[in-house]
Amino acid sequence: MQSLIEDGLSRPWWVLTLPAPLEAKYHATVAPVAGWYLQSWLLVFIAFNILSLKVDLDAFGAEAVAVPAGLTLGIFVPLALAAILVLRGHPSSRKQTLAVLVTSLVDMAIVLNSAWIVPTGHADTYLILAAIVPLVVGMIAPMPFRHSLWFCGCAFGLYVVSVLALGLSGPNGSGVPLLVASLILVPLKLAYSREWETKRSFLFGLREKAQAAALAEANARLTILSETDPLTGVANRRLFTERLDGAWDLAAAQRDWFSVLLVDIDRFKLLNDTAGHAVGDDCLIRIAEALRGPVEAGGGLVARYGGEEFVAFLPRTASEAARAAAEALRRIVADLALPHPGLPGPGIVTISIGVATAHGAEGMRGLGSGDLLKAADEALYAAKRQGRNRVEAALPAPEAERVTAEPPVNAPRALAPTCLVSVAPRTRAA
Ligand code: GH3
Ligand code: MG
Ligand code: MG
Repeated sequence: MQSLIEDGLSRPWWVLTLPAPLEAKYHATVAPVAGWYLQSWLLVFIAFNILSLKVDLDAFGAEAVAVPAGLTLGIFVPLALAAILVLRGHPSSRKQTLAVLVTSLVDMAIVLNSAWIVPTGHADTYLILAAIVPLVVGMIAPMPFRHSLWFCGCAFGLYVVSVLALGLSGPNGSGVPLLVASLILVPLKLAYSREWETKRSFLFGLREKAQAAALAEANARLTILSETDPLTGVANRRLFTERLDGAWDLAAAQRDWFSVLLVDIDRFKLLNDTAGHAVGDDCLIRIAEALRGPVEAGGGLVARYGGEEFVAFLPRTASEAARAAAEALRRIVADLALPHPGLPGPGIVTISIGVATAHGAEGMRGLGSGDLLKAADEALYAAKRQGRNRVEAALPAPEAERVTAEPPVNAPRALAPTCLVSVAPRTRAA
């Protein structure tokens, strides 16, 4: 699309038509001018013709004026009124051109007839009037250039044929009417320029829209890149930290439970060393996928914390539910049964999880999301120390306070490792 737009903008001045798909879009988008625009001009046209009856009276005299007046009032005026009716609403540009063409040609014919039958000396006035009609109408009517070509061609043809056939110009007549008729090139030029400019601004509009869409897409891609771990596709640490702060603040405001899970793959270095780095990468991807669904279903977020560690938060989740969720994740990963050739027997890849839970009220008392992460980290290392492939949890701070010394006033309430609660593993890694 972008290159078509550029093609359209760089086309030479004599090529009015846009590249095919753009030409179709142009016609579909640039709606024809509303009918009322031409309707109002037709009313002016009628008024002009009625006022010109005084010219007829002066030129024809009281007895003979009946003919031009009869033609004007009996044919032109009803025809123009019918055209006004036809142009209600949003008529197609073809309909508009047809209405304009018929009314103008009929008016010209009436005026040329007057030029033919008017007493000598007045013919030139009517010939000039007849030439002015298509000139003015052609400039006013918003016709596409193709229609304007038809309109001006027909009007000019009628005029020249009539002038020559009726002998209204020639050795005895003045050359002025024919000169005036040649001005028909003015509406033609106008129609060309109008269409050229309309199409140009249409193309500029398209280009602007396309550029804005490309920019928005690039920005969206950049945002995704800056927030996503490229290997596993889950959130990266940067996004996690940002969301964690927001979620913990919300828990604090709502006085609700909140849990953080730190997940570490067991013996991952050994997996890399024995199965290869590519298998290690694949293992990271599989585990990230396995963690993502359940955590997001609980309204949380899982992210790659770094290396073979993942981190997640679970809003509105108290300690028992968080431990159960972590245990479910541990089982899901074990059930993947990813082979670990570095472990004895039919070894599989397992994970250890550290869980920290706190009540939102603690946030009001100075406990920060960093303290939750620290506690989850301590719980994770406890899980590692106790044999891996297991979940260890840190109890919420208020309970921790009961078993540890009272912290100094205003000090951040780190969750003490003394209040870790063990969850027995189903299988134990070597
Ligand atoms: P533990 O059970 O105590 O956690 O032992 P571990 O071997 O899992 O932990 P350790 O920290 O010793 O090793 C982590 C390894 O993870 C080391 C590093 O090469 C590997 N690693 C980190 N990032 C990537 C990665 O993107 N792809 C792969 N394949 N390996 C990675
Ligand atoms: Mg690690
Ligand atoms: Mg590890």
